[in-house]
Amino acid sequence: MAPARIEKSIETRLFINGKFQPSISGKTFNLTNPATREVIVEIHEADEEDTNAAVAAAKAAFPAWRDLEPCDRGVYLAKFSRLIHNSLDELAYLEAISTGKPVSAFIDGIAAESNFQHFAEAGYQVQGSSSLNTYNHLNITVKQPFGVVACIIPWNAPCIFFSNKVAPALAAGNTVVLKSSEKAPLTSICLARLAAEAGFPPGVLNIITGFGKPSGSTLSAHMDVRCISFTGSYSTGKKIQEAAAASNMKNVILELGGKSPAIIFPDADLEDAAAATQSSVQFLSGQMCMANSRIYVHESIADKFLALFKEKFGAARLGDPLDRTTTHGPQVDSIQYDRVKSYLEIGQRDGIMTLGGDAKDGFYIKPTVFENVPEDSRITKEEVFGPVVVINTFKTESEVISKANDTEFGLYASVFTKNIDRAIRVSKLLEAGTVGVNCTSPTTAKDMPFGGFKGSGIGREGYRISLENYVETKSILIRVSPE
Ligand code: NAD
Repeated sequence: MAPARIEKSIETRLFINGKFQPSISGKTFNLTNPATREVIVEIHEADEEDTNAAVAAAKAAFPAWRDLEPCDRGVYLAKFSRLIHNSLDELAYLEAISTGKPVSAFIDGIAAESNFQHFAEAGYQVQGSSSLNTYNHLNITVKQPFGVVACIIPWNAPCIFFSNKVAPALAAGNTVVLKSSEKAPLTSICLARLAAEAGFPPGVLNIITGFGKPSGSTLSAHMDVRCISFTGSYSTGKKIQEAAAASNMKNVILELGGKSPAIIFPDADLEDAAAATQSSVQFLSGQMCMANSRIYVHESIADKFLALFKEKFGAARLGDPLDRTTTHGPQVDSIQYDRVKSYLEIGQRDGIMTLGGDAKDGFYIKPTVFENVPEDSRITKEEVFGPVVVINTFKTESEVISKANDTEFGLYASVFTKNIDRAIRVSKLLEAGTVGVNCTSPTTAKDMPFGGFKGSGIGREGYRISLENYVETKSILIRVSPE
């Protein structure tokens, strides 16, 4: 189908070795605006050959980039950050027309800008250590970049995941091939244009657009890729881990999905708890890994909490993502829309839908609440990735902890209470990489490690920790001749 509205000024090619170029095969794929269901543009599709070319360019660029002083690498990162700052509106627009993210919810550009700014100045934190603890030896431990790092990102916040990975990987002296999601390539291509303007040496940062297969799978199996940093679903994470082990045992960082619980105790500030939990599950129309998609409310306050929650959740403004008053956009595409709708059917079969449903327009799903759903229902257990929440009640602290932990995921959990002892007790027992006390996602702290327990991932990302993801540790023993 030909694009209904071609955005002529939008770059759609692959960025390899410092140049925009069409895919070698000439293949393209259509990108659809999820608010209107119209095809807006055709994107060049990287296949195996393009992906190999990107890795070869990154490999060739590595020695010179590695040998720069951190402050010299930082100059490029800082310039990139400034260029992102000047392009925030453009990035918000591209994200809105391609993924349906409301411009009012576009915090991604500023996050990317600050990530590059932070890591522009962080390169010297890549430090080793030394000791004289071995008889007649000086022991030196150094940290060195891997070489070529591959980054594979999802579609829900591409600028954030792009910068979470690319900024520390480059700061530590690696070169990078990033594959954007086929559902959200436009902002990554825009960032490629800004990288070209920032003047990164050719091959240091390569950005390709394409599908999981063959482009993503080529990266995860590539013998010249030494580290792969992935954010996306549990099932793809597994495939990447398998391909990494089967090829060259490359280092793997996995940030995966979630089914995050929020627990509301009777002494919580119910107004605050309702506001925080609705914002978590409604932000990005529920398309957020940390969304508290399960809420457990104490039976003694359930009616009051549910009334407050539903009033706030139901007040979301569905509409054109480019309209600044819109707070709730569509699901990203027909696949995601159909997937969420299939969970609505499961929820209606297993429980009671007390708010929401299919908006039957664009790819919109209304904010949706299910109550009285069994703990073993697929809608309680599996990640829906839509504006859908299951709210169940509990009687005791130990009962709710065991329900909250009864999941293969462990990304984020929240506890709402004014009792400090209970807050600490429960936080300790919740199986999650991040626990919010009287707060919930999307609140995270940039300087704290972020990542998952159990099936939610391997490794952590954050200002203080990410550089470590992109370096190898080498021990050098220097024998000292006796006098
Ligand atoms: P996805 O796993 O379908 O795709 C993610 C990326 O992997 C895409 O670029 C895709 O093309 C690529 N891919 C697909 N198959 C591949 C393969 N075989 N080999 C290599 N790459 C492959 O995920 P999605 O639908 O884009 O994103 C939603 C998921 O991401 C949700 O599960 C969500 O929870 C998770 N997520 C996690 C975090 C986090 O920080 N933990 C953040 C955002 C999203």
